[in-house]
Amino acid sequence: MTTMKKQVVLYKKLSPLLMARLQAQAEVTLIESLDATGLARLREALPRAHGLLGASLKLDAGLLDLAPHLEAIASVSVGVDNYDIDYLSERRILLSNTPDVLTETTADTGFALILATARRVVELANVVRAGEWTRNVGPGQFGTDVHGKTLGIIGMGRIGEALAQRGHFGFGMPIIYHSHSPKPAVEQRFDAQYRSLPELLQQADFVCLTLPLTAETEGLIGAEQFALMGAQTIFINISRGKVVDEAALIKALRTGQIRAAGLDVFEREPLNPESPLLQLNNVVATPHIGSATHETREAMAKCAVDNLLAALAGERPANLVNVRAWKV
Ligand code: NAP
Repeated sequence: MTTMKKQVVLYKKLSPLLMARLQAQAEVTLIESLDATGLARLREALPRAHGLLGASLKLDAGLLDLAPHLEAIASVSVGVDNYDIDYLSERRILLSNTPDVLTETTADTGFALILATARRVVELANVVRAGEWTRNVGPGQFGTDVHGKTLGIIGMGRIGEALAQRGHFGFGMPIIYHSHSPKPAVEQRFDAQYRSLPELLQQADFVCLTLPLTAETEGLIGAEQFALMGAQTIFINISRGKVVDEAALIKALRTGQIRAAGLDVFEREPLNPESPLLQLNNVVATPHIGSATHETREAMAKCAVDNLLAALAGERPANLVNVRAWKV
């Protein structure tokens, strides 16, 4: 007797190798892009889908109600703010993500933003490119040191820890951090010290966000928090844009309440080209590239395929997010 293959809808392109692995086990529909046509194709495919794999799409109940046979969603991301976890658990749809494989690369991105903002790399590289490098730079173009400065990490999880490792061992930076709870192992390894959020904001030279977007963290950093930072503070966000009140950030940058910002994530993505952030020389903005290297994106896709195939085979995926949906 031949068993019918399960139906999988992909809304992210896979490498030929991973595509072949998935197709060996499942009937695959690929939605190439999430424009209006792609979304219409997705809505057409959902009624027969057993599994979904992709990223950067808000999959709310309105869409998922179209998928009565859905068993599993494999997100190609570690952040799961695009999903209604209670809804998925109620329907016993297994949600998996791709932690760990992106940790080091995302921490590299964080450090790239730290260095770029402190040393004004983008702003001054643009001076050279524009043919305006006519004499040696003077104090007006000087940056500020990174080594030896205090690195403040908000959200001491996997990525926070990888950032602390770079700061402590690579740049001799004292590490202070804020998280739900103190992390004795991290404190020992990096000589790090726990701080309340207001204390961290007052004491850190670099304030780095590495926590997830949740109901609790949405808007966590606003006018009141920027007011606690100093005129020399550099603010780095590699978590999610909505953790920050962007209007308050713009005001803090414009008024010199803080020195600079390195931002990989924004309230709305893609960032509007008219955003005031892009008119400020003291902002380095990158297009959500935290994990965007060839090696890491392939590792994330492999992890997501493994998670999805396990779930569709009735096994518990290695990176199950909503444990409540798992029936023993
Ligand atoms: P993780 O290991 O779960 O770490 C998150 C940390 O945030 C945890 O240590 C947690 O503290 C802390 N936290 C959560 N809510 C908090 C709150 N209200 N106050 C203080 N601390 C809080 O996750 P991760 O793998 O490091 O990833 C973190 C986030 O980075 C992801 O959720 C994603 O949004 C973002 N990210 C962005 C990119 C990008 O492209 N820019 C790439 C990858 C990830 P406890 O441990 O004490 O609970």
